[in-house]
Amino acid sequence: MTESEVARVDPIKEGIFPSGTPYDFSGQRAVECENCGSPMPHDYYVAILGMWGGFRLPFGKNSTTGKVGKRSNWSFCAICGEIDALDEAAQDEIRKAARRSQ
Ligand SMILES: [Zn+2]
Repeated sequence: MTESEVARVDPIKEGIFPSGTPYDFSGQRAVECENCGSPMPHDYYVAILGMWGGFRLPFGKNSTTGKVGKRSNWSFCAICGEIDALDEAAQDEIRKAARRSQ
């Protein structure tokens, strides 16, 4: 079997993104996890978090297509659940979430 192009982590079901967050699975890349050291590929996602202009699509299909908002890039380790913020927008969201939980 070749490397799966199917996401192994559902970031909304896992509680990583809030319910209704538009996101797209953008593929897998083999990187060594900084947290658990697993050489398993990480799942990469593009998400629009926070205030986004657009409608939640019916049938549970959340996609960033056609949505206006700040896109942020994330990767998840399917083994240990380590979340990496890959760009400034994602790091921003983590800072905002940390402020909210204080
Ligand atoms: Zn890991």
